[in-house]
Amino acid sequence: MRQSKLFTKTRKEAPKDEVSKNAQLLIRAGFVHKEMAGVYSFLPLGLRVLKKIENIIREEMNTIGGQEMQMATLHPSENWKTTGGWDNVDILFKVKSRTGKEYAIGQSEEEIITPIAKEYVNSYKDLPLAIYQIGQKYRDELRAKSGVMRGREFGMKDMYSFHDTQEDFDRFYEIVKQSYFTVYEKIGLVAKATEAHGGDFSKKISYEFMVVTDAGEDNIIYCDECTHCSNEEISKVKEGESCPKCKKSSLKKAKASEAGNIFDLSRKYSEDFNLTYKTKDGDIKNPIMGCYGIGTTRLMGIIVEKFSDERGITWPKSVAPFAVHLIQVGDSDEVTSEARRMYQYLTDSNVEILFDDRAVRTGEKFADADLIGIPFRVVVSEKTLANGQLEVTDRATGVTKFISEHELLDIAV
Ligand code: ATP
Ligand code: MG
Repeated sequence: MRQSKLFTKTRKEAPKDEVSKNAQLLIRAGFVHKEMAGVYSFLPLGLRVLKKIENIIREEMNTIGGQEMQMATLHPSENWKTTGGWDNVDILFKVKSRTGKEYAIGQSEEEIITPIAKEYVNSYKDLPLAIYQIGQKYRDELRAKSGVMRGREFGMKDMYSFHDTQEDFDRFYEIVKQSYFTVYEKIGLVAKATEAHGGDFSKKISYEFMVVTDAGEDNIIYCDECTHCSNEEISKVKEGESCPKCKKSSLKKAKASEAGNIFDLSRKYSEDFNLTYKTKDGDIKNPIMGCYGIGTTRLMGIIVEKFSDERGITWPKSVAPFAVHLIQVGDSDEVTSEARRMYQYLTDSNVEILFDDRAVRTGEKFADADLIGIPFRVVVSEKTLANGQLEVTDRATGVTKFISEHELLDIAV
């Protein structure tokens, strides 16, 4: 992509009412556009990052047998009345048509997937099933001050599973838990799983996947020596107490953001919608269900909170909008032709590249590159032409190396 043709430009200031670091940087660098508190449009650069996050999640969900679909977001109110959500879910947006018909806007999709499953699940042979989607959710959140980490419109991967037996549910639950750790690791984040009792209709433990960040809205109590971690809101133990699990260390407290969670729905929704199947013994039963969420746009915000410095964003390579930012310094014929050759060569070698071919000051190019945060910056200038090697700077560490084109391919593809 040639930067001279890029739809967006960087800006010096974020909107005055934007208090969160993630949104300030994402807005200034041209990744998102703020429509109002809690609602953002994703611009070309932002969409590239979001798609990368989604694809990492998609790959893991497919690996564990998930089948992707797209569920409706405009929901019949009847489905929400069936489950009680119409009156009990305070964050549910409701709309009325001009003929007075009422609808819910999807904040979660149990009310859609369960009736769909009813059409296709008849026998234990149809189970287990894991169906997911990656798409928009809408919630009437009271406070939306955390940028893309808490939207009133936001992106989520939500998966729903259906099982014949408790053992089968337990087996799959553990598989999903492990796949979540893989997702966060691939994105470059470390998540801790907090155990919580699963609320009204669940017997099993639910897990929240927490990433430590000062921008988080939760507090976790965790142990440095083992995996013990709990959400302070529900925790039986306090900061400074001895770890109840390993007893080796005293518990610490940190701010964290919930990057995902997995939840045992038991038979709540299969009973509400009378979703039944025939067991091996010929009995008629309601399947056990689980739901599994990951906040895709929240993840993007968490990444920016964790991977940024005073100059801008420092994207991990796995989710960066481009791998290489090629910067032309100077406009002599030699420099121009070498920069264009390099752009073509790297593009042909499958390197995702943003080519700063704009006629602006060098200082502005570097400042923009720092703000946008592409992992590797490659400069083509009279100086690099003279020494015949590429000048490659790692955005995160600031370390500059002089390497060959071949070596660049090794690190950037
Ligand atoms: P929270 O406690 O942060 O409100 P939640 O328990 O309501 O989260 P779920 O309903 O389980 O969350 O949604 C699954 C995931 O979607 C969450 O783990 C989080 O990553 C993300 N998420 C939830 N609400 C929002 C929001 N308003 N904006 C962005 N992401 C969200
Ligand atoms: Mg919530």
